[in-house]
Amino acid sequence: MARILVLGAGMCGLSTALLLARDGHDVTVLERDPAEPPPPAQAWQAWQRPGVNQFRLPHIMLPRWRAEMSRELPQVLHELEANGGLRMNVLAMLPLSERGPWRDGDDRFETVAARRPVLEATLATVAADTAGVTIRRGVTVTGLLTDPSVGGPVPRVTGVLAAGGHALRADLVVDCGGRRSALASWLQAAGARRPAEERADCGFVYYGRHFQTRTGAQPEGRTNIVQRHESMSVLTLPADNGTWSVALTTSGRDRAMRALRDPARWDAALALYPTAAHWRDGEPTGGVETVAGIEDRHRDFVVDGDPVATGVVAVGDAWACTNPSLGRGATIGLLHAEGLRDVLRDTDPADHDKLVRQFHEWTTTAVEPLYRATLWFDRHRLAELDADAAGIPYQTDDPKWAFSLATFAAGRTDPDIARSYQSLASLLATPDDLLAEPGLPEKITKLGGHAPNYPLPGPGRRELLAAIGT
Ligand SMILES: Cc1cc2nc3c(=O)[nH]c(=O)nc-3n(C[C@H](O)[C@H](O)[C@H](O)COP(=O)(O)OP(=O)(O)OC[C@H]3O[C@@H](n4cnc5c(N)ncnc54)[C@H](O)[C@@H]3O)c2cc1C
Repeated sequence: MARILVLGAGMCGLSTALLLARDGHDVTVLERDPAEPPPPAQAWQAWQRPGVNQFRLPHIMLPRWRAEMSRELPQVLHELEANGGLRMNVLAMLPLSERGPWRDGDDRFETVAARRPVLEATLATVAADTAGVTIRRGVTVTGLLTDPSVGGPVPRVTGVLAAGGHALRADLVVDCGGRRSALASWLQAAGARRPAEERADCGFVYYGRHFQTRTGAQPEGRTNIVQRHESMSVLTLPADNGTWSVALTTSGRDRAMRALRDPARWDAALALYPTAAHWRDGEPTGGVETVAGIEDRHRDFVVDGDPVATGVVAVGDAWACTNPSLGRGATIGLLHAEGLRDVLRDTDPADHDKLVRQFHEWTTTAVEPLYRATLWFDRHRLAELDADAAGIPYQTDDPKWAFSLATFAAGRTDPDIARSYQSLASLLATPDDLLAEPGLPEKITKLGGHAPNYPLPGPGRRELLAAIGT
């Protein structure tokens, strides 16, 4: 069993630590934010987490996350519900006329919804009570330690340096430092080649607000959590303890939409969408939280067939991150952490080169396709939003985009396809799974192929601009 340092106590860092400790590894998590998690019920108000930009932005955990957690770390779900997490079913958010009567197997669309601080405080509490996990907060990692006896272009990482010059040694360093992970520059400073990196501003802006009611009731679901409209997506996210959130997502290039920073204009915009307007019938718990400049970023740590370093791997957002409007980050990160756990079951960390190669191969095969599919969706959606702002129809010769729109539209009239669509959105199936189902692609094209581009009721751009006063 290995001595493992996990850098970062965010969603993936804590999940990774739990999974590895459960396998008998000795795991220490280093987190630069000094504040200990308050009891989860107070986390929203009381927990300062400057290390996570999106800490108070709306988050939803997909049904796939719930399924993985229920198999791997059921006590997290148990505690989350005990802390007020809302057990809900994303299919049940559709009107009966769309989803039809309940069927066996529909419980696969269940998840537990909670605000990010409550989720993370729950994970942190479970991790702190788990044998084999030590969490040290207020420790900022500043660089890597390497083995001086290993010469050549592939340094062997043997630990990390923390602020104040402290050296911490380990058999394996796992970077879970999130979107802003500095691993690439630490590697270079240690004499390694730079990881191969793709990076682009994904171009979306988030305008999020949280609400609560004293009765604990949630707004009724009238359609999917992610609603695509002209010039804007609307995300309606249930959460814990009678709270919920709504995020309006636009293109960062659409300057007119910047008015949404103002709560009154944000409110006026939401009021225009019949499937979402009632989500503002609660008490707002604050103003409009905005996040822009979100990057799509992917790093490969094996370049031209060779690792850039051994003794270190990256998991979760530190490896790859995308635009979050499909709510996939934590689920992809959890799958990635499970992959590391599995690779460590078969590969001795002392076999440094093999470990990095095996994890790279597993990452490329099992989780990179999820990253690529998310990027694919983002690129089309952003181009579509930009076309809306320019007043021209979005045109692409990618047949998969048309198929994806047809799947959503057909799901509004056919309960089987509604389930297919939810499986995609929940990360329980891939587009290739749907394409391989006999008769399904034909049915989707027949029922949804001629639907309007935006099948949900909502304002056109002119009406939206008038409502927000731009
Ligand atoms: C606006 C927005 C909305 C999102 N909504 C969703 C959603 O609905 N559903 C979903 O699944 N995902 C969502 N995501 C993505 C999700 O937040 C991330 O995928 C997830 O937080 C990644 O977890 P992580 O542990 O990899 O990184 P993080 O949670 O970012 O944690 C990284 C941690 O590392 C620490 N750290 C960094 N550098 C150092 C250092 N040098 N030394 C010590 N500690 C360090 C940081 O302080 C931080 O605590 C959203 C993201 C954004 C931006």
